[in-house]
Amino acid sequence: MNLLEKTLRILEQPACDNCLGRQFGQLLSGFTNNERGKLLRTIAAMSIDNEDYKGAADMSNFHDYAFHNLEIKAKTAGKQCSVCGDIFARLEKYAEKIAKNRQYGYKTFLIGTRLSSGLIEKEEALWERVGIDYCEPLKAEINREIGKLAEAATKARFSRKNPDVNMIVNFGSGRIEITPNPIFIYGEYQKLKRGIPQTRWPSKKYRTSVEEIIAKPFMLATRGRGHKLHGMGREDIDARCLAWRPFVLEIIGPKKRETAMKKLAGKIGKEVKVRNLRPSNIEEVRRIKEARTDKTYRAVVKCNKPASKEDLEKIKSIVGEISQRTPKRVLHRRADLRRKRHVKQIKYKYMDKKTFLLEIRGEAGLYIKELISGDGGRTRPSISELLKNECTCKELDVMKIHVKG
Ligand SMILES: [Zn+2]
Repeated sequence: MNLLEKTLRILEQPACDNCLGRQFGQLLSGFTNNERGKLLRTIAAMSIDNEDYKGAADMSNFHDYAFHNLEIKAKTAGKQCSVCGDIFARLEKYAEKIAKNRQYGYKTFLIGTRLSSGLIEKEEALWERVGIDYCEPLKAEINREIGKLAEAATKARFSRKNPDVNMIVNFGSGRIEITPNPIFIYGEYQKLKRGIPQTRWPSKKYRTSVEEIIAKPFMLATRGRGHKLHGMGREDIDARCLAWRPFVLEIIGPKKRETAMKKLAGKIGKEVKVRNLRPSNIEEVRRIKEARTDKTYRAVVKCNKPASKEDLEKIKSIVGEISQRTPKRVLHRRADLRRKRHVKQIKYKYMDKKTFLLEIRGEAGLYIKELISGDGGRTRPSISELLKNECTCKELDVMKIHVKG
């Protein structure tokens, strides 16, 4: 079948310009299917109208089609499209409906459609008759066309990447479903008070968390359904984090997307400070969760028996590789594994005969409290082992998170 033959074959049953043109959607870029359809319909009409073909005794198949189609055309003129049921004529109405419902305050959207199975069957029946060379699926065209109309009607932008909302136009029920995507906010926090877990604690043991403190003003501003804090690692509950720890706050199911970052940051309490807030995305969440950064800690260490300044010299020999089994205190939620970890730098300061300070730089995943105590032999070597003195970490602060780049 050449193009004209195929066109005539399609038009044996009523077809709108979009459905006609779409069967040639892969030919001639820069045209809409509607434009392709109009052109082909005109050419088909001209060929049918050609006097030479009428009454010719020796007709090729093509002429058969032409005459056959002329009759059909007369019968089907102005009839509803047998493929799409004139769905394209109704798209404008749907776009207006989308524009009327401006909740969620979105600036970008992704749009999809749900078609009745009947429509898809009709399209397949057409393909059975005329083949699928050059065609584009109905759903692809409808998605594109409703997207263009919705852009014009809402002044929002169609976006495949990180859209504010996802829309589904359900042509069966006539409903438009809009689902807001989460808002992601990057920032860095300091935790200035001990005794606050990073994320919500299941029991009532802790009244709040770093996550809840940061999320509160954003939840009020966006009226979100929930929140999550994705931190670049986490400090112990009883440790302060004096370093600026990168995080991404995720607000789930927001009803508004206005987030005046500076103003909201000002409403976060004194126990937790934030800086460098800016819009973020799910890719950054992944990056932050995967980051393996060195950290520098400061620890106040108490010894069981007196230690001299000379004794403390031995501390330096801990620099290098150590072996650490999962600490007893986290065994209830972590697998019992043995890991190799690097202690990269250590400095100490004698305070009194039972107290000294440590400043330790270690690779990601190094447990500092156990490096000091030895955790009953699970961490080796340890400060306790080297000093032959039972040492305990009394206070711990994260001083620096060595973010690369
Ligand atoms: Zn149609």
